[in-house]
Amino acid sequence: MKTTTETNTFLNYINGKWSASDSREVIESTNPANPSEIVGSVQNSSAQDLDLAVQAASEAQKKWKKLSGAERGNYLFKVADKLEANIDDIAETMTREMGKTLPEAKGETARGVAILRYYAGEGMRKEGDVIPSTDSSALMFSKRVPLGVVGVITPWNFPVAIPLWKSAPALIYGNSVVLKPATEAAVTAAKVMDCFDQAGFPEGVINLVTGKGSVIGQGLAENKQVTAVTFTGSNATGNHIGKTVAARGGKYQLEMGGKNPIIVAEDCDLDLAVDAAISGGLKSTGQKCTCSSRVIVQKGVYEKFKQKLLAKVEAISVGDGLKETSWMGPCATKGQFETVKNYIEVGQKEGAELLFGGEPISDENGGYYIEPTIFDKVSSSMTIAQEEIFGPVLALMEVETIEEAIELANDVEFGLSASIFSKNIDHILSFIDDIEAGLVRINSETAGVELQAPFGGMKASSSYSREQGEAAKEFFTTMKTVFLKG
Ligand code: NAP
Repeated sequence: MKTTTETNTFLNYINGKWSASDSREVIESTNPANPSEIVGSVQNSSAQDLDLAVQAASEAQKKWKKLSGAERGNYLFKVADKLEANIDDIAETMTREMGKTLPEAKGETARGVAILRYYAGEGMRKEGDVIPSTDSSALMFSKRVPLGVVGVITPWNFPVAIPLWKSAPALIYGNSVVLKPATEAAVTAAKVMDCFDQAGFPEGVINLVTGKGSVIGQGLAENKQVTAVTFTGSNATGNHIGKTVAARGGKYQLEMGGKNPIIVAEDCDLDLAVDAAISGGLKSTGQKCTCSSRVIVQKGVYEKFKQKLLAKVEAISVGDGLKETSWMGPCATKGQFETVKNYIEVGQKEGAELLFGGEPISDENGGYYIEPTIFDKVSSSMTIAQEEIFGPVLALMEVETIEEAIELANDVEFGLSASIFSKNIDHILSFIDDIEAGLVRINSETAGVELQAPFGGMKASSSYSREQGEAAKEFFTTMKTVFLKG
């Protein structure tokens, strides 16, 4: 039983059982489109709850790693089926909990299904290589082996896809998992965990502990029994976790913020670039790590691009993500809403020209809505050109040449994703060579990455390891080199 139904209170999932925290405290999760609506409550877990989960994971991993990859894969296939059967409910919960529109929430949940099926298949792939030995009577080979217990710490902006794209590879390669989801999206995470439960996952192999980052996240980072921690979230938290895990000799993976540029060259298909700027910059209310927040446009098409962009932005409808008419939902939290408003104020104070939007939108339910916002005449030294806003705010910047555009694109501490819109192969090739980003996109928006391809950033965006696809194997396993002589 995952909830105490009379209060819509969701429990922890530890050692294959739903259990209340010994703190007897809960945290309420509210709807950003209607903050007085409580979507559900989750456990405000204690360090003791976490210890129980880590112990259970450690015990369970001993048996789990002995299964064949195909057997582990069969479990993941079953979870995928359960998630698929629950897409409507989970997507609706996600929309109510963090505001993303329903079609986006359904798309994300469907992606979760695909991630599970992809990694289920990975259980059949090779586990190492044979290496020729100088001793002709010996067999020498490498063998990938699991790490042990993996701590998974996730943000609220992709509350299904991110926990799964970390947990599924961790599990298929023979690790057990303790998941600490973002508090603001923990009800959604509990519903995903229920799919593991319904699929009959062996007890203790995957565990859910909700609660404060400073207690449960911090506890995972500090716990020596947790061999590795994979984290997605803000730079401040990520850097702290990285230092904490490294100090005790653990392995860590950090995926953090972005300040992703789109370069619009004079020779490009302008309509395509306009659509990408809108979709990449404003979908999910700009709350994607890969969202486009800087649009760097060549002088010859600057005015035309601006006019086309404005015409489309004016038509954007903002509202409750559950309504079919809403193209863009609210900011996910009150804190995020205040942060975005503050950045808009700072942009104006520092001299950027507000071309469109910039105001909160009030409705009868007090949702955290902000108009899609476009700033013109942004220079690279401005705060809104440097810091991740995580809101529906686009900064337009004008340049003469593509070389200048690439230089400007690189002039930030982040390096997650970057796009160029151009038909000129020389421009495209120099962009591929010189752009400082892990995800390099040509004539395509900065957001939108395929699950079978490596995902990750450079510079302050990442610890340089890669998630997704085959690349995930590198983080979630280690290697034994075996020298076998008869
Ligand atoms: P966040 O505040 O850093 O939180 C992320 C997770 O860390 C949450 O589960 C949080 O728990 C936990 N946490 C907080 N303090 C902790 C501590 N001291 N020790 C351990 N864990 C702790 O980030 P967010 O606001 O949820 O997410 C937004 C950020 O994520 C943005 O910067 C965005 O760019 C980034 N992001 C990056 C990617 C990528 O792949 N590069 C993808 C998506 C999002 P609580 O919720 O309980 O505080």
